Amino acid sequence: MIIDTHAHIYESEYDNLDEIILKLKNFIVINNGINEKTNKMVLEMADTYNNFYAAIGYHPENVDEITDWDLEILEEELKNPKVVAIGEIGLDYHYCSDNKEKQKELFIKQLELAKKYNKPVIVHSRDAVEDTFNILNEYRVRADIHCFSSSTEMAERFIKIGSLIGIGGTVTFKNNKKTVEVVKNLDLSKILLETDSPYLAPEPLRGTKNDSTNLKYVVKVIADIKGLDEETVLNKLNQNAIEFFDLKGVK
Ligand SMILES: [Zn+2]
Repeated sequence: MIIDTHAHIYESEYDNLDEIILKLKNFIVINNGINEKTNKMVLEMADTYNNFYAAIGYHPENVDEITDWDLEILEEELKNPKVVAIGEIGLDYHYCSDNKEKQKELFIKQLELAKKYNKPVIVHSRDAVEDTFNILNEYRVRADIHCFSSSTEMAERFIKIGSLIGIGGTVTFKNNKKTVEVVKNLDLSKILLETDSPYLAPEPLRGTKNDSTNLKYVVKVIADIKGLDEETVLNKLNQNAIEFFDLKGVK
């Protein structure tokens, strides 16, 4: 069993969704919505399939369309017991930097909901690491800094305020020494394993459509960096996910 802590597995991303669901029957997937439509999709899949859990939220790229009414819908949907996190939420100044204040406001409103319902959050942070850190430092919600791309020093600052670091396919990329350093320096207990499917397929499949079955390549690279065997690494990463997302009944 492998737990994929961050994926986007739904019909708007995969033409062959039924095939993928079958392929993933021995995987546990935390499936992330990014807007109202995909939040509904991940909720429906979590209700249908035992091995799928839902993270729901409004991604910063959708900030201009989000109203208070949408936040009320999100709050209602959070009551579904298969919702294990609010995500994917955060800040993206790469995609759009002229609405920073609006992005921060939406991020904070969702952190407040996470606090109210005692859920962790899955955080997207692109070209916005300082603001992300400052906001999480103030609100102190348990956070998974997904697809971590910053330095070891930054990772340690996040860990100090209770966050974990999401590691996926990018650690296998040949030119990515920074993430290798992060993995080398962090205790395994601080890492969450993820794909970000359908994006970021690891080497040797880089550039293809990703799914959770490719996590074996990521586990192998982490095991090599740590000088541990793959089974030890996988068991620990699964245990981290079970504890962080409070996945009751998963062994
Ligand atoms: Zn994502």
